[in-house]
Amino acid sequence: MSTPVAKPPLDLIIAAPRGFCAGVDRAIQIVELALQKFGAPVYVRHEIVHNRFVVDQLRDRGAVFVEELDDVPDGVPVVFSAHGVPKAVPDKATERGLEFLDATCPLVSKVHRQAERMVALGRHIVFIGHRGHPEVIGTFGQVPDGAMTLVETVTDAERYAPTDPANLAFLTQTTLSMDDTADVVAVLKRRFPAIQGPPGEDICYATANRQAAVKAIARQCDALLVIGAPNSSNSVRLVEVAEREGTPARLIQRAAELDWQFLTGVRTLGLTAGASAPEVLVRELVDRLAERFTVTEREEATKRETVSFKLPRGLDVAA
Ligand code: SF4
Repeated sequence: MSTPVAKPPLDLIIAAPRGFCAGVDRAIQIVELALQKFGAPVYVRHEIVHNRFVVDQLRDRGAVFVEELDDVPDGVPVVFSAHGVPKAVPDKATERGLEFLDATCPLVSKVHRQAERMVALGRHIVFIGHRGHPEVIGTFGQVPDGAMTLVETVTDAERYAPTDPANLAFLTQTTLSMDDTADVVAVLKRRFPAIQGPPGEDICYATANRQAAVKAIARQCDALLVIGAPNSSNSVRLVEVAEREGTPARLIQRAAELDWQFLTGVRTLGLTAGASAPEVLVRELVDRLAERFTVTEREEATKRETVSFKLPRGLDVAA
């Protein structure tokens, strides 16, 4: 009789907070409640949150995901994603008489209002963010063309040549790297001492907390895995935070994507999930790891989150 081969040990440190934030939770609830209230199909402009698993589950229940409002037929309700939309989108929906629900995260809406306020004060806005991200497109769409300039890096900030350097303001995307953004802001403040910034942080609590949690465990780990989508800004940032701490890190969407080679020689593995990744995907990965390793799991929590956002009027009572 052959002796079973012992599985190698693996210490797994799971970061907390991780996974769903209040904005993602709210956005998903809005689609679910819209399906209950109106029945299928409910159209959703853009992925409601950047997670394929979440999108597929909602699609199975009758949500239809499209990229543009023009793809939404007349007479059906449409939900705008958590990332926010340019003003022209709800305007156009109103023009067409479409029933729409705005799932924009309230923390993104707050940046929209700050942008409007700065423009009303006559300031030109330097916006720190990633070109092409839907949140950036949505925020640019709150102000007239030419009122905002995108700066992505320290180099961009060094090169920026405004026409009126004494009359600037800066705002940021909510899901950036805390450290990289601080560097960009430092350059802007050095070059343009009169520049005004938001009263608090534009980088949201969830992004900040998930990055701090990764920082707290990264140096204890030989490698770190982040569950999240490649188009999820906050998830990609978590990989960068770990790498900046000197810990090799990988982004995977599901356990099935795990490259086992990455775990060669790894005795302590860190694990986290981006703000749009559900906990079920974390457990799926832990189960998969347990097939090959004797896993000793512990959670390291740096903060407890208690944030929650109200649902839009009309839907709260439909629940
Ligand atoms: Fe809102 Fe932050 Fe979550 Fe984005 S990551 S939905 S800004 S709480």
